[in-house]
Amino acid sequence: MTKTNYINASIYSSEKQTFIDNQFMTVDDATGKIIAVGTGTPDTIAEQTTDMQGKYVMPGIMNAHTHITSIPTYWWHDGQEDRHPESREYNTMYAIHNMQDMVNHGVTYIRNVGAQYDIDVAISKMQREGKIAGPRVMTSGQAFSITGGHGADGGHEVDGVDAVVQGVRQALKMGVDNIKMMVTGGVLRNGETPDDIQFNFEEVQAAVAEAHHKGKTVAAHAQGNAGVKEAVQAGVDTVEHAFDIDDETIEMMRQHGTVIVPTMNAMYAIYKYGEKTVPAWAREKVIVNIKKHFASITKAAAAGIPIAMGTDAGTPYNGFEDESAYEMQLYVDKAGMTPAQAIDTATINCARAMHVADEYGTISAGKFADFIAMTANPIEDIRVIQQDKDVFQHGIQVHQAAKTAGVDEQVPVRQVG
Ligand SMILES: [Zn+2]
Repeated sequence: MTKTNYINASIYSSEKQTFIDNQFMTVDDATGKIIAVGTGTPDTIAEQTTDMQGKYVMPGIMNAHTHITSIPTYWWHDGQEDRHPESREYNTMYAIHNMQDMVNHGVTYIRNVGAQYDIDVAISKMQREGKIAGPRVMTSGQAFSITGGHGADGGHEVDGVDAVVQGVRQALKMGVDNIKMMVTGGVLRNGETPDDIQFNFEEVQAAVAEAHHKGKTVAAHAQGNAGVKEAVQAGVDTVEHAFDIDDETIEMMRQHGTVIVPTMNAMYAIYKYGEKTVPAWAREKVIVNIKKHFASITKAAAAGIPIAMGTDAGTPYNGFEDESAYEMQLYVDKAGMTPAQAIDTATINCARAMHVADEYGTISAGKFADFIAMTANPIEDIRVIQQDKDVFQHGIQVHQAAKTAGVDEQVPVRQVG
């Protein structure tokens, strides 16, 4: 068993809500897991030592809401919508590109919540086998919608409890890790609003029962308050978006242990960049809801409802590079979080929401050595995480910041299985 000692690092501690200077970390090279973390000089003699030169080290970024088969465009030509091609081949190509982009930008674990043709299931396998670069993927396959409902193109359309039960069982048989239910209408489909309830309570409850029987989670796309309440009461594990919630909803979430995945950048990016390209019917829904949305997340965060970072990567102008780090900035600038709380949303809170906290989400013994290293302190300025940084996955450096490497001494990028 060969080991690597990383010395002289300032390591983020969620418990202390800050970075602690002069830390070491010992990693078992064979398993990619951390075997010790401490102050000063490591107790273990290792074959390799890496001096982190006082860099700020935090766990790899986790993103609980992505769509890796999409690209972040929405074009509008001569009054006609013109989104990217929908074939299996294009979707697969986008997914492989997006995976590479994410890991280069420090994202080491994602939960994909809706992929055309169930492509994320194969992509997840390819990543684990080391055939492609990218974050580890928790999969959902195709999302579930009512016939003609939100996400119905490219998802499973199911109506009634029996169809939901059968569909969810089939998805679980195929091997998905999570079930995605489109409980309400949304922004990027014409003829519906975020306040429309689509799946009824019994349908959502049936999906939850089936997923939970197999130890899997359910993520509910739920935006308007009534739809969020329905999803929470039906027992979903995470509520995605949550545009509009009140005190009663927060109380229900507390009782059920519900986690919110905000995806604020999905709204902000359309608001900021979508004027000429995103159709008016979609932009209007953003304008009507964005303030409410940000106020809801602020309120939930202040009330202590766990927030897991998710961006909805793949929606217009909301991509796979530094958007995850930018989402954390939005939590600080627009949802009242401290930088440490924002870091937690993208690390330990995601790990808990995804049920992988025993192996991911903090830098501690027994967990995988997924981490990023920065030259400045994100507690002082959350935007630091958006800068080019060193990225390690299972103890292997998969990306080196150009600034620290210098172009000719750049390490070869390796893939991690
Ligand atoms: Zn989404």
